[in-house]
Amino acid sequence: MSKLNLQTLFRPEVLALSAYHVANAQGFIKLDAMENPYTWSDELKQSWLARLNDCAINRYPDPQATLLATTLKSLNNLPDDIELLLGNGSDEIIQLLLMALPPNSHVLSTTPSFVMYKQISDSLGLNYHGVSLDAENFDLDLPAMLTAIEEYNPAVIFLAYPNNPTGNLFNIDAINKIIEAANGLVIIDEAYEPFANNASFMNRVGGNILVMRTVSKLGLAGLRLGYIAGQREIIAELDKIRLPYNINVLTQTSVQFSLENKAVFDEQTQAICRERTLMLQELNALNGITAYDSAANFILFKTPQNQATRMFEAIKTQGVLIKNVHPQGGLLTDCLRVTVGTPSENQAFLNALKSVL
Ligand SMILES: *Cc1c(COP(=O)(O)O)cnc(C)c1O
Repeated sequence: MSKLNLQTLFRPEVLALSAYHVANAQGFIKLDAMENPYTWSDELKQSWLARLNDCAINRYPDPQATLLATTLKSLNNLPDDIELLLGNGSDEIIQLLLMALPPNSHVLSTTPSFVMYKQISDSLGLNYHGVSLDAENFDLDLPAMLTAIEEYNPAVIFLAYPNNPTGNLFNIDAINKIIEAANGLVIIDEAYEPFANNASFMNRVGGNILVMRTVSKLGLAGLRLGYIAGQREIIAELDKIRLPYNINVLTQTSVQFSLENKAVFDEQTQAICRERTLMLQELNALNGITAYDSAANFILFKTPQNQATRMFEAIKTQGVLIKNVHPQGGLLTDCLRVTVGTPSENQAFLNALKSVL
């Protein structure tokens, strides 16, 4: 028998976690993870591969990803006193931010929101608080947020803008009041900015405001690249705990190439936005379904009472994988979330849904 006792070897908060579960999507029409469904033309692929051909994979990558960081700064029109930190997905940036906090710090967000805020806070033994959104419209409950700020004095507040999994943009005045009230950092997580019709806080970055983005939802989820913009002094501290080569050379080169061809992605995201409008209409035309307006590439919808899990499974049996958020409870009770795919994928989903209603 081994002498190892895992119960004393690892921190209790780690032992208490469950691993982030990713559904096996093999063989399914995959509408569960907010991916861009479109692929590239052969021509574009060829020039991308030619670029990769020049990558020195025997060498460590540029530790600062200088070219890519410069490209991202200029695409976002950032002034000189604002710096960027690049991460292996924005998930890694959330982790870096929280790792830099003192033990026992408080972290605040909304419920529901992106699950990694809580998952990573919990893994680090921090005190996470999720303030319930307004049940009417999924907007911020400003008085409750201000009370929580007063009570916990959070070191970090995460606001997903648009929010995942509700898809809405929070009220700007409420966000401003939260920024004013906060003594710590306010992270505006703009993962869905490509679908949000230019709604953004990027030109507000500075002071305690940081804006986080990712290329995942744009169409490059496989590359794992996220970034956060903030005042130079804050980014400099975070950069100290970043592992030196966190952005690999294939990612640096491929994202740079993709941004040079950004028009391709803009066309794809516009197609997704048009499909989103159609899908919302079709969903809301169904008896018993309430679909919520979305500024992202997914739609949250409510099913008849106690039907969400049955319908999710039945849709899956028909080869379409969406996301069952009903188990999260609270405002998500009876809710399912579907990513907007290609017209034919969306039609397959709608047909499956209709057949199980
Ligand atoms: C998907 C998502 C992310 C994670 O993005 P990655 O860059 O792929 O790690 C961050 N925030 C929100 C709100 C998301 O929905």
